[in-house]
Amino acid sequence: MSLISVHKLSKQYEATEVVRGLDLTIQPGECFGLLGPNGAGKTTTLKMLLGLVSPSSGDIRIGTYRIPEQARLARQTIGVMPQMDNLDPDFTVTENLRTYGRYFGLNLDQLNARIPGLLELTGLTSKADSQIPTLSGGMKRRLTLARALINDPELIVLDEPTTGLDPQARHAIWSGLRRLIQQGKTILLTTHFMEEAERLCDRLAIIDHGQLIATGTPRDLIASEVEPQVTEIYGETVTQWAEQHAGSCCDRHELSDETLYCYTHDSSSLLTILQNQTALRYLQRPSNLEDVFLKLTGRELRD
Ligand code: ADP
Repeated sequence: MSLISVHKLSKQYEATEVVRGLDLTIQPGECFGLLGPNGAGKTTTLKMLLGLVSPSSGDIRIGTYRIPEQARLARQTIGVMPQMDNLDPDFTVTENLRTYGRYFGLNLDQLNARIPGLLELTGLTSKADSQIPTLSGGMKRRLTLARALINDPELIVLDEPTTGLDPQARHAIWSGLRRLIQQGKTILLTTHFMEEAERLCDRLAIIDHGQLIATGTPRDLIASEVEPQVTEIYGETVTQWAEQHAGSCCDRHELSDETLYCYTHDSSSLLTILQNQTALRYLQRPSNLEDVFLKLTGRELRD
């Protein structure tokens, strides 16, 4: 039985439908990524799943709970890492975890038994007694993750867990999430980082304008949506070069901000031609989830 099932979920704010007939199922133990440009409806969807925003129509079930009717009960089994850290600056690291744990009815003995493991998982053991303002941004995110785990949740919901973090801090969060995945936890996350989704997620849904536009494993989405090889070509003469050659050298191409993206099944003839083009620079790479995302949602900037 699926842990999360969402059927024909919609949300309307005044005249605008920001989530439109969304269908999703997430299995126990899966790491599932919800991707989409800004304004696609990801946060609204998460809030509806948690019972914090009521749907205009549709059905949500988490485990045996109907949402929003039984959201309060369901939330006892869910850990939430919100987009913004909302740690209490007046308390230490350990006190923040204890205070949060009391919302779940945990007593001091239970909390004292659980907190060292959470600090270890998130690499914060040496910071147990530190004040919040002394922590780096990465440490605060890790503490927010530890806090989301205080009730030993079956399901962990993370809204952009690594936004604003440097690569080291991002890898530290990924390592914590990987351990949770190994423990069999179910994870639902939103992210703007395609690399994060590709590394962590078993399955993904890409949404745009409130609608599901693709779903599958990262590997299947890449294989089905884009050609396997990408050659990015740059240089002042690229527009002119594209007009003359792109049609014959590429299976598909896109010109964006003076970069030509050539998608091919076999790039060898394209690379032979490029070797003689001294005015152009190029980068050859396998296609990835970002190529899928940009193909499906477009390259125009979103607010
Ligand atoms: P995402 O998380 O994918 O960036 P959101 O779910 O935050 O998208 O927002 C989807 C759309 O819904 C946006 O256009 C946003 O402006 C709008 N929206 C979100 N919350 C509200 C609200 N409380 N009232 C009116 N519009 C909202």
